[in-house]
Amino acid sequence: MDFQLTEQQTLIRDMARSFAEGELMPRATQMDRQAFIDPEVFAKMGELGLWGLTVPEAYGGAGMGNVELALVLEEVNRACASTGVTLSVHNSLLGAPIHKWGSEEQKRTWLPRLATGETIGAYCLTEPNAGSDAGALRTSAKLDGDTWVINGTKVWVTNGGTCGVMLVYARTGTAESRAKGISAFVVPKNTPGVTVGKHEKKCGIRASSTTEILLENVRLPKSALMGKLDDGFTIAMDTLDGGRIGIAAQSIGIGRACLEAAVKYAKEREQFGQPIANFQAIQWKLADMSTRLDASRMLVHKAAWMRDKKERCSQQAAEAKLFASQTANFCADECLQIHGGAGYTDHFHVERLFRDARITEIYEGASDIQRIVISRAVLNGV
Ligand SMILES: Cc1cc2nc3c(=O)[nH]c(=O)nc-3n(C[C@H](O)[C@H](O)[C@H](O)COP(=O)(O)OP(=O)(O)OC[C@H]3O[C@@H](n4cnc5c(N)ncnc54)[C@H](O)[C@@H]3O)c2cc1C
Repeated sequence: MDFQLTEQQTLIRDMARSFAEGELMPRATQMDRQAFIDPEVFAKMGELGLWGLTVPEAYGGAGMGNVELALVLEEVNRACASTGVTLSVHNSLLGAPIHKWGSEEQKRTWLPRLATGETIGAYCLTEPNAGSDAGALRTSAKLDGDTWVINGTKVWVTNGGTCGVMLVYARTGTAESRAKGISAFVVPKNTPGVTVGKHEKKCGIRASSTTEILLENVRLPKSALMGKLDDGFTIAMDTLDGGRIGIAAQSIGIGRACLEAAVKYAKEREQFGQPIANFQAIQWKLADMSTRLDASRMLVHKAAWMRDKKERCSQQAAEAKLFASQTANFCADECLQIHGGAGYTDHFHVERLFRDARITEIYEGASDIQRIVISRAVLNGV
């Protein structure tokens, strides 16, 4: 066993840290207030190759794995969780499944553009009546001769406003077929019939784009199907194993930012004639934050390492997401408490961290759903 990062992993982590500290930290509060990510940030991520981190070199990417992606996401999210989720969804929920399940034509068409950030990716599974129960989705895809015709409404689509291509899950079986009758389609956003609906105003990660996507008689060639017919649910769940590792890494980044802010404030703030860091009650909060963050990182790196070795890691990814997202919220809560009244105002970025942390326990499967995945593995070995 070796806990040491490789030289390449250290280099990529340090590059991401320097980008996060130099470009994101100074902008994060402003981007949160304006509710969009500066275009210069997107361009800089293209220059650094972050959009194509896990795209194979043969298709113009950096050819790295999930461990490297987790390292980068921790650094980016430590500075700005809105940028972090944008990058996570693009890499793990679009680039990764196209690489794993896409046809050669789909790979050649999309991966080079995704690698540079010329095209941003989105993942459209959730619908108004199909959230945790994704197998109940109603968006339909029907063959009309050689053309797929897609109709439906997707909600809460991360990158919905900024993307150029989407992975859309639609029902190809009967209404009763549930998870067994769903297929995945690669849908260019400029296809006639695709429109961006409501832009959500969110509690946290406000600078990231979250929208409805409306699909009305969207006509696509047969080649738009990704993977086999009716295999969509398997693709969606396998893809989420990778995505959950990304959100778990996001959680560590947010939690680490909370710990760092709490340490700084505890050393500066004086009450009863001394820094509040001298009080054991404060020290114990810091100790618990640090311990949970280190444990989260172990879970994340183990799950990412298993996925890179192509081992099934649904349980490990769910455990990493469950624990790391709880840790992010624990750290955000304790950090705000250590800041006292000032933490509850916009005097510090702590209130943004508190808002940003909350989503990690909801998207890409709420904590209850992670527990279902884990307990199923514990009880039945699957
Ligand atoms: C900001 C944001 C970005 C998102 N981005 C995307 C995206 O890019 N693509 C996409 O497809 N989706 C996206 N989502 C959707 C997200 O994955 C869902 O919100 C999430 O899966 C939960 O679904 P829901 O909101 O419908 O909650 P519901 O499924 O209605 O759940 C409500 C509550 O009930 C609990 N619950 C549900 N079923 C069970 C059960 N069987 N046992 C115990 N408890 C249960 C849940 O844990 C939750 O606490 C995003 C959501 C948000 C808020």
